[in-house]
Amino acid sequence: MTHFSAFSLLKNALTGHKNWTEQWPDAQPKAEYDVIIVGAGGHGLGAAYYLATQHGITNIAVIDKGWLGGGNTGRNTTIIRSNYLYDESARLFDHSVDLWQNLSQELNYNVMYSNRGVLMLAHNVHDVQSFKRHVHSNRLNGVDNRWLSTEECKEYCPPLNISKSSRYPVMGGALQERAGTARHDAVAWGYARGAAARGVDVIQNCAVQAIRRNDDGSVAGVDTDKGFIKAKKVAVSASGHNSMVMATAGVRLPLESMPLQALVSEPVKPVFPCVVMSNAVHAYCSQSDKGELVIGSGTDQYVSYGQRGGLPLIEHTVSAISEVFPIFNRMRMLRKWAGITDNTPDRSPIIGKTPVPNLYVNCGWGTGGFKATPGSAHVFAWTIAKDEPHPINAPFTLDRFRTGRLIDEAAAAAVAH
Ligand SMILES: Cc1cc2nc3c(=O)[nH]c(=O)nc-3n(C[C@H](O)[C@H](O)[C@H](O)COP(=O)(O)OP(=O)(O)OC[C@H]3O[C@@H](n4cnc5c(N)ncnc54)[C@H](O)[C@@H]3O)c2cc1C
Repeated sequence: MTHFSAFSLLKNALTGHKNWTEQWPDAQPKAEYDVIIVGAGGHGLGAAYYLATQHGITNIAVIDKGWLGGGNTGRNTTIIRSNYLYDESARLFDHSVDLWQNLSQELNYNVMYSNRGVLMLAHNVHDVQSFKRHVHSNRLNGVDNRWLSTEECKEYCPPLNISKSSRYPVMGGALQERAGTARHDAVAWGYARGAAARGVDVIQNCAVQAIRRNDDGSVAGVDTDKGFIKAKKVAVSASGHNSMVMATAGVRLPLESMPLQALVSEPVKPVFPCVVMSNAVHAYCSQSDKGELVIGSGTDQYVSYGQRGGLPLIEHTVSAISEVFPIFNRMRMLRKWAGITDNTPDRSPIIGKTPVPNLYVNCGWGTGGFKATPGSAHVFAWTIAKDEPHPINAPFTLDRFRTGRLIDEAAAAAVAH
């Protein structure tokens, strides 16, 4: 398996890049594993990586119905930030932002983490009050976030329209400077390569049809396209389809699956220095290293498993972007796509044990789980290995929807990218 080093780069450059070996083998299922992870997105692959590197568990299969990283991990707009309102969320997302800083070095794989700053625009009095509340709460939690005046927003992001007669006037903004973006595919590839190098089987094109249980109710394994595979523990990270997979084990999850869309423009020279989020109008923008504007919108307002989404939402998003950044008015859009997000009532994830012994779930990331990939995978691996939650994910139980101890980021921000 290829290992990246200055020497291997030089050697392969001199031999015309014809001798690079595979990044990870195309594994076929064994009869039995210690842990089966359903879903080879960043969260599933990351959990396998941390199980292998931090808990010494390597007899693991990560199984995906498609190709690895082909779910939301490879479809998102890559916004990374940790300026959430509640203490529980701040701890979880900031743990992740901490891990992002050195992830390329940890994986020996360039995930292109760029902390270019995320600026959240306030367009009305409610936004101003809500974001200032976030700034204060974040500071109390040791999370960087500061308030910028309208003029300071313009200075930080010159393409911004701050005209007072604009349809969406900018009344200021909250800036998290440690926040930014990363290359989404590389995150999946880096974790897959790191996990496979330690003996983890990454099995693609193999749908999990059902989770099978023993007579005592505990997990027995999974039925797949390639037959039954026995497992001591099963962990589910099948974003968008978690409720369906978990229902086969008799666990009902409080999730609604909805399409979320994104689009990219034709590439242009570097013009956009940061990430801008406009929650009130549901439009987000950054510029990729290739030069494309990466634009995201809000979820379609209906439940669906169709990975397409409707055009009215795209039209709304593009018109909002044109209003907030008039210099992009005449740019052409190249591609649009959607992913299926699974949304909890409080818009916070569920990471932990389930009522079924030895069955674990990491789900409900809605529109904002990419940023959490390293942090969540890290604490999920802990939970699987020790059969108990890590202190960081302990509040993110399934049970909170019964007890009412919600972590209501939905009410706090109404958006979670
Ligand atoms: C358009 C869009 C924009 C987004 N923007 C952002 C953003 O800017 N910032 C942010 O933080 N988050 C964002 N998100 C959310 C983020 O992408 C997800 O929360 C995160 O990537 C989820 O990762 P995952 O590993 O849990 O799931 P996924 O990457 O979706 O992986 C789950 C995998 O499970 C597999 N699977 C499903 N069912 C089965 C089955 N029965 N058997 C086997 N495998 C199965 C799927 O094929 C898939 O590969 C966005 C999402 C979308 C769609």
